[in-house]
Amino acid sequence: MTPRTWAVVAFGGLLLALLVAAVVLVPWHRPPAPRADQLAALREFPAEQVARGRAFRAALRPPGYAALLVTLAVALVLGLTPLGARLISLAGRPFGDHWIAQAVFGGLAVVFVANLLTLPFTAWRHAVLSRYGLATQGWGGWTVDLLKSYAVTAVIAVIALLGFYTVTRLAPRWWWAFGAAGAAALVLLFSLVLPVLVEPVFNRFTPMPPGPLRDELTALAARDGVPVRDVLVADASRRTRAVNAYVSGIGPTRRIVVYDTLLREAPPAEVVAVVAHELGHAKKRDVVTGTLLSALSVAAAVVGLYLLGQWRPLLRAAGVDSIAEPRAFALVLAVVTVLGLIATPAQAWVSRRIEARADAHALALTDDPAAFEAMQRRLATVNLGDPDPPRWEYLYSASHPSTVERIAAARAYARETGR
Ligand SMILES: [Zn+2]
Repeated sequence: MTPRTWAVVAFGGLLLALLVAAVVLVPWHRPPAPRADQLAALREFPAEQVARGRAFRAALRPPGYAALLVTLAVALVLGLTPLGARLISLAGRPFGDHWIAQAVFGGLAVVFVANLLTLPFTAWRHAVLSRYGLATQGWGGWTVDLLKSYAVTAVIAVIALLGFYTVTRLAPRWWWAFGAAGAAALVLLFSLVLPVLVEPVFNRFTPMPPGPLRDELTALAARDGVPVRDVLVADASRRTRAVNAYVSGIGPTRRIVVYDTLLREAPPAEVVAVVAHELGHAKKRDVVTGTLLSALSVAAAVVGLYLLGQWRPLLRAAGVDSIAEPRAFALVLAVVTVLGLIATPAQAWVSRRIEARADAHALALTDDPAAFEAMQRRLATVNLGDPDPPRWEYLYSASHPSTVERIAAARAYARETGR
């Protein structure tokens, strides 16, 4: 068998593995959240609050979708015309066209062209957040955060670019196999080091101060059978008024983080409801599930890229001889961008199912649907959410069930358990 035949086999195998992993790991059953309960919950929101939430979300749409369109347009123009290859050649010229210079400086140039062209929309978004009083950061702090995120992007890009183009040089016929394994390993590594290396760049984390709430949360985790070393508090208030919590890391780096804004805004019973939801993620190993699905997806994407690279007209359009050369990076990024846009609704769907399961876990663990509902109301109020967002947007990108869905699930639980 030729490397190409093996690649077809590997591609099929990876897609099958992805399908099996999704069938086994994604909760297909959704806890009930009757639409009648959703509509009743919506009617109980003050009309003025719903209007304000909708106005805020509508104001975020133009910069959001404009940035998406510009990113796609830049990726297609650079990737499907010789422009990208020319830009990469140019970046390598001062270094005698050395492949490392092309891979690193050319690659970074292609990545940052889109970043810089969408900068006005990123600023527009911050202006909307400030106008609605959600951002607590001035333009100075915003700029520092932006530069930090550019630095993080650059470091990750350099590691990926150097790794990828070293492999394509060392194994010109089999790079797709090593590349797929390397990309999957990189996803795993990133999940592992994210809380240790990346999150501290943006926030400070401190253990929750001792007191009755901390004791209650520790007892809750123990009752749930989830070993949690610590609940950490992030100083999110220096950036936003929004309240949130999350779980990140895998294995030894796993941790539960709550925003300091949540502790300031919400009464203890609601903090307990939030942490119970996060314990649900920890217990079901949702970060591991997400990491595994991502690792399989990127591995399949690398092999798919190799197969796509056999298609001559595509290479001709990009003005390159092979998809494995650094000058073809703009084409690679174009393919990745299009794949990302196509995958967004599937990712959002998986995420919503996982979030609904964590909600069900929180309800069963605390057996306090009233506090859960109060917490959902607070999230929507403080974060200026639309409790019942437009269907198309929900289906395309919502990572969580809507507020009215989550409240309806709490009411269905209360009915079922007679509370
Ligand atoms: Zn969650």
